[in-house]
Amino acid sequence: MHNYQYSILFAILIALPAFIRPSYPTRIICHIRKNPADLSVYVNYLDVTIKRRGHAVWTGRSDDMGDFYCDKIENYKGPFDIFCTGVGVGTLLIGSLPLNGRSCLDTLLLIPAEKRFDHTGRILCPKCHKGDKVYPIEYGESLTDVEDSKRAGESVIVNGKFQAGTCVAMAAKYYCDRDNVQF
Ligand SMILES: [Zn+2]
Repeated sequence: MHNYQYSILFAILIALPAFIRPSYPTRIICHIRKNPADLSVYVNYLDVTIKRRGHAVWTGRSDDMGDFYCDKIENYKGPFDIFCTGVGVGTLLIGSLPLNGRSCLDTLLLIPAEKRFDHTGRILCPKCHKGDKVYPIEYGESLTDVEDSKRAGESVIVNGKFQAGTCVAMAAKYYCDRDNVQF
């Protein structure tokens, strides 16, 4: 082979990985910890569901430290939404992880999720990163009242507050009406 042929071969070998979709499993290593701003929520032995585009792709449980490890997520492209469920926790969105192009993500997530604000001071949804459909959650009204409102086609957002439908206060403080998630 001539030198230039080696050069072409070399260039092809270098460029090849960009065109091949990685076949190795996607891994998420997650450390769930208490948010110092709200220490009332426990983080161990929580049921964890990882969703992609609204569909569950993995379910598992955090260990006694609040850590969980997941692999073999078949769909490579994120973002992946991490939901936790537990007694006194309800179902919380604690993070939305972009995993594009990475085989492994090692991350720290807080319960409740760390609050982020836009320049106007509105709290941002961890999923859509917008604040225009985010409402504080109000606990108090009974589930049947809220279900009746839903059936009647009435909004469950009253006076700018999302009606949780339970008087038992959970960890979630906010609701995004765009994504139908609590955080
Ligand atoms: Zn949202």
